[in-house]
Amino acid sequence: MQQLEVQTDLTVVGGGLAGICAAIGAARQGSTVALVQNRPVLGGNSSSEVRVWVCGATAHGTQHFSRETGIMGELFVENQYRNPEGNPYYWDLVMLEAVRAEPRIHLFLNTDVRTVDAADGVITSVTGWQMGSEKEIRFVSPVYADCSGDGLVGVLAGAEYRTGREPRSMYDESWAPEVPDANTLGSTILFYTKDVGTPVRFVPPSFARDITETAIPDRRVIRSELNGCAFWWIEWGGELDVVDDNEAIRDELQAVVYGIWDYIKNSGRFDADNLTLEWIGSVPGKREYRRFLGDHVLTQHDVLGQTLFEDRVAFGGWSIDLHPPGGVYASERGSKHWHPDGSYHVPLRSLYSRNVRNLWMAGRNISASHVAFGTTRVMATCATLGEAAGIGASVALRNGLTPRELAGPRFDLMRNALTRADSSVLGVVDEDPANLALQATVTASSALTQPAVEVSSGTLPLTADVAVVVPVDPALDRLELLVDAARDAVLTVELHDPLKPQNYLPLEFIDSREVAVTAGEKRWVDVPVDHRPDHPGNVMVVLKQNADISVHTAATALPGVICFEHRDPAPDEQWTEQFRAWKHILPRAGLCLRLGETSAYAPSKVVGGYSRPYGGPNLWASEDLAWDPSPWIELSWQSPVDLAEIVVVLDDDVEEDLINLHHHRTPFTSLPTLLESYSLEFRTDSGSSWQPLAKVTGNRRRTQRHRLPGPTAVTHLRLTPHATNGAPRAHVVSIRCYGD
Ligand SMILES: Cc1cc2nc3c(=O)[nH]c(=O)nc-3n(C[C@H](O)[C@H](O)[C@H](O)COP(=O)(O)OP(=O)(O)OC[C@H]3O[C@@H](n4cnc5c(N)ncnc54)[C@H](O)[C@@H]3O)c2cc1C
Repeated sequence: MQQLEVQTDLTVVGGGLAGICAAIGAARQGSTVALVQNRPVLGGNSSSEVRVWVCGATAHGTQHFSRETGIMGELFVENQYRNPEGNPYYWDLVMLEAVRAEPRIHLFLNTDVRTVDAADGVITSVTGWQMGSEKEIRFVSPVYADCSGDGLVGVLAGAEYRTGREPRSMYDESWAPEVPDANTLGSTILFYTKDVGTPVRFVPPSFARDITETAIPDRRVIRSELNGCAFWWIEWGGELDVVDDNEAIRDELQAVVYGIWDYIKNSGRFDADNLTLEWIGSVPGKREYRRFLGDHVLTQHDVLGQTLFEDRVAFGGWSIDLHPPGGVYASERGSKHWHPDGSYHVPLRSLYSRNVRNLWMAGRNISASHVAFGTTRVMATCATLGEAAGIGASVALRNGLTPRELAGPRFDLMRNALTRADSSVLGVVDEDPANLALQATVTASSALTQPAVEVSSGTLPLTADVAVVVPVDPALDRLELLVDAARDAVLTVELHDPLKPQNYLPLEFIDSREVAVTAGEKRWVDVPVDHRPDHPGNVMVVLKQNADISVHTAATALPGVICFEHRDPAPDEQWTEQFRAWKHILPRAGLCLRLGETSAYAPSKVVGGYSRPYGGPNLWASEDLAWDPSPWIELSWQSPVDLAEIVVVLDDDVEEDLINLHHHRTPFTSLPTLLESYSLEFRTDSGSSWQPLAKVTGNRRRTQRHRLPGPTAVTHLRLTPHATNGAPRAHVVSIRCYGD
């Protein structure tokens, strides 16, 4: 038996999405990383071994402009290009290649960490056994990240943690039980089926459950065309110890799966003769186990109140999604959901142990109550937490700080690192003094200053209230709508404030207007608005239901503008969530409208500011390429600045809800709003000629980094878009310029 020792700056245990992103995040900061995963593939529950589809802040399209950026965003966008059909093996490849692209990451697959050396609240090493190659490997590093989900590293190091459900009295959470218990969310095994074109038999094994003797056929959705994660409700073990009883849980879950399959194949209730079982999981996907205690425990209040933490490092938007402890055998619904009004923030203080000084954690292990964990547990959120933990570990190490010091007095270092990495964080302004673009003046060939969509694609009768969210920067003083009126009528238009920059709901009434509409078709109606908020933001314009009026729809969308229709929640929808009353309509399209003069798409948006939609689109948009066929955007400095790296952040349309597996199909491989090709040029003084710096073609990525051969004194930098991936205008989110 070989005994090896591996020394790196950071050891990440667990190669699920949290661990992958922690490792990449730290490696990109310059740290060497050992990424240790006890399975033969990366990806944890999202891998082809388990096949849970990766969800995140978009909450299957419930939240808006909320798809993750950063490393998770890169994975989503790359998967969309390579794997729009959602093949689980191709998704494995996307993750593996992302890790292999980082030379500072040393990947150890099949390596199960079993022991931890720690004393006085400091871990000195962790040791794992690499199966198949009979190696015992000791990993030594100054800091560690437990991204294992089960939390073995933390518990062996003495990190304080909780399992089960806290009592309501602990955090005053209305969804916590009155009395604490040890129940967790249970584990699941999924299966895939395939139509082979000819009849195939299925002889069930002796251990298959007879599900007709259970509540399953009545209480759960079984359809023969469903596959994989559509059967997320095959859940069991929440009343056991999810780790200690893992073997028994797997046996029961497989018995249930074969029982369901027997029911589909042999009950005569389904058209399933030609179906065969293509794959069944052998590794139970675990949902919940140890949650370590950090300096902050995220609670239901932080999620639903969308607490604006000073040390915010990531965001989520999935509902608080809790399941009955009895799992598949429970007579209750398989899950209950409580969505926040928009995305919520997670602080850095939830990502490190409060008593083990060099332990970071991400993914299922973070410091959250059971209730808050109900939302942070989805994998795109776990991934952004992983990226933040990896960056935090690296930045703290580089600066000789404890995690606590980084989250407190030196959080500026973390904030700057997050923005420079283009991490998935919400409401963080780029104020990094290293970004020399902040000193530049920005000009462009054109900008979308008077947004209008005038070509009708059809009509939408106002049989219900219809709402459109538009950016206001600095005022909304013109609003024209294209309408048909069956007879002379009065249209009532209300303005509502979404109250938070990440929300798309009419949360506070502002104003109401009544507009006379004369009978006829395709009439531009001028709504007399004059809304001047204290600072730029979105406003929700609600067109009240009117039996005589239809509004014209358009086949294209303006950046940052989306539409909703009001509906009455179904009787069994007991939740207080407002979004259920506002259904998103006209995806990738909109209403025919004309807005007044706006700075919402000004060239200056590419420096500083937020690098994603947050109270407005926060990007530069050129005029329609039909009117400005040769757009450009330029940064200029009064005196030369020494540049070594230019970072260009493009618009990957975070409103588009991408998914890695087969939940839904997105009809393009590259996001249309991304520039497909562009050039970068620079000048060394105002009299000199333009020199080429980079030419990008076939682009499908949000973030491109361009290195200059060495520090170069630059007075002007110009980006010239040549083509988009389909959008009618050129969009750029951010241009950042750094010295060496
Ligand atoms: C059936 C099911 C349905 C779900 N539905 C969704 C959904 O629809 N969308 C969604 O996004 N999320 C969903 N979730 C939740 C989500 O899958 C988990 O919360 C998520 O996987 C957590 O990510 P992670 O990286 O923290 O952990 P994991 O994905 O569990 O990854 C941790 C990895 O660490 C490895 N590991 C553990 N111990 C060690 C050790 N000692 N040494 C080395 N490696 C170790 C594990 O093998 C695993 O591969 C679901 C979960 C389940 C089980």
